[in-house]
Amino acid sequence: MKSQKNKTIIIFLGPPGSGKGTQADMLGEKLNLPVISPGELLRHERDSHTPIGKKVEKYLASGKLVSDVIIEKILLKRFLRRDANNGFVLDGFPRNGKQLSFLKKTLKNITEEDDRIFAFYISVKDSEVKKRIGGRRVCDCGASYHVLYSPPKKSGICDLCGEKLYQRKDDKASVLKDRLQGFHKRIKVIKDYFDKKNILVKIDGEQGIKKIKKDIERELKSFI
Ligand code: AMP
Repeated sequence: MKSQKNKTIIIFLGPPGSGKGTQADMLGEKLNLPVISPGELLRHERDSHTPIGKKVEKYLASGKLVSDVIIEKILLKRFLRRDANNGFVLDGFPRNGKQLSFLKKTLKNITEEDDRIFAFYISVKDSEVKKRIGGRRVCDCGASYHVLYSPPKKSGICDLCGEKLYQRKDDKASVLKDRLQGFHKRIKVIKDYFDKKNILVKIDGEQGIKKIKKDIERELKSFI
């Protein structure tokens, strides 16, 4: 299970719409590490109509958290894939105290003392989150747009594959309100844990994407 090279594990935390997924993808590409996102893994299960996919469908639609047992099962399988031998970037995990305990236990098993673990908290105010998420439109091919900030060339149509764009059910205003409330309730214990370990860096997520990326890379240099 343990690899020859040092592992790098980077955890992205932040409210929905903070852009942590975008930053996780860019950093994963730069460091040549896979990005592991439970949200993506669950949507894949749903779209593949697997038994897990059928179970989680309603949670994905309502923005409610899927049971920890399911999340732990799909994540453990994913952590152990060969492409994660040198580490990974985590997007959207952990989201509560129980998931944090699972992560701590799992990291103990799959890392060694000189492996590197960092967490970034991408900070964005609720009012800004609402603006961003309200305008988000996605495509089944994985592309994501914003009606104001990054619109597709042709309104409502994906630039990449020409399919119709849609709004995720959990991005609708009423659902988002609950997601944000839940987020604030659960994130404190997680932030406190990484903060106490001195591996948490707060990044201002209300800047442009490029500036946020630069800030993350600068912080990372001082760690690595
Ligand atoms: P995301 O793509 O991170 O916005 O997640 C989409 C949905 O997947 C969430 O609203 C939850 O229903 C589910 N989900 C994602 N990550 C987790 C997690 N760590 N624990 C439980 N459910 C999750």
